[in-house]
Amino acid sequence: MYAPLRVCPLRARAECGRVVQWRFRLRARRRAKERMDEDFMRVALAQAAEARRRGEVPVGAVVVLQGEVIGAGFNRPITARDPTAHAEIVALRRAARRVRNYRLTGAELFVTIEPCQMCVGAMVHARVARVVYGAREPKAGALESAMRAHEHPALNHRLAARGGVLEADCRALIQEFFRSRRQDEGEDRD
Ligand code: ZN
Repeated sequence: MYAPLRVCPLRARAECGRVVQWRFRLRARRRAKERMDEDFMRVALAQAAEARRRGEVPVGAVVVLQGEVIGAGFNRPITARDPTAHAEIVALRRAARRVRNYRLTGAELFVTIEPCQMCVGAMVHARVARVVYGAREPKAGALESAMRAHEHPALNHRLAARGGVLEADCRALIQEFFRSRRQDEGEDRD
C-alpha cells in the first residue's frame, strides 16, 4: 500500500512557484533600493567635488525624504570659519529649513565618508532613520571605525547604517585631494 499524498502535487507546485516569486520580488526590491542608494550617493559625490574645488577636504552629503533630496551640503569649515560646517551638518540644516522642522523623522542621509561623532549626534537629534556612507574613515569614523556611536545604549533613537556604497569613488576623491596637498607642500619646501 502506498501512503496517501498529504498535499496535492499541483497545489505543491503552485505553492513552490509562489515562494520563488516572492523571493524574486524581494531580491528585485533589494536591488532597486541598492541602485537608489547609489544614485543618491552620486549626488553626494557631486557635492564633495564642490568642496574639492574650494580647497576643502572633499566630503559631500544629501538628506533624502520620501525619495526626494531636501538638503545638500559639502564640507566647508575653513571657508565658513565654522568648525561644525561638516557636509552632514550643512545638509541637515538645509533640510530642516526646507521642511520647517528640526525633526527629520524618516529621512535618510547619504554621505561620501563615514561620519564623525558630532555628525552622528546631529543625525540622532534630527531623528534621521538611516545613514548611508561611502568610504570608511579609519581615525574618526563613528559608525564602525573609531566607535559605533549610533548604537550607544543610552540613545532612545535607532539609526540604521549602511557603508561601502560607491566606496571606491568616494575614497579616490579624498585620496587624490590629500595626495595633491602633499605634493603642493613638497613644492613649497623646494
Ligand atoms: Zn562630522
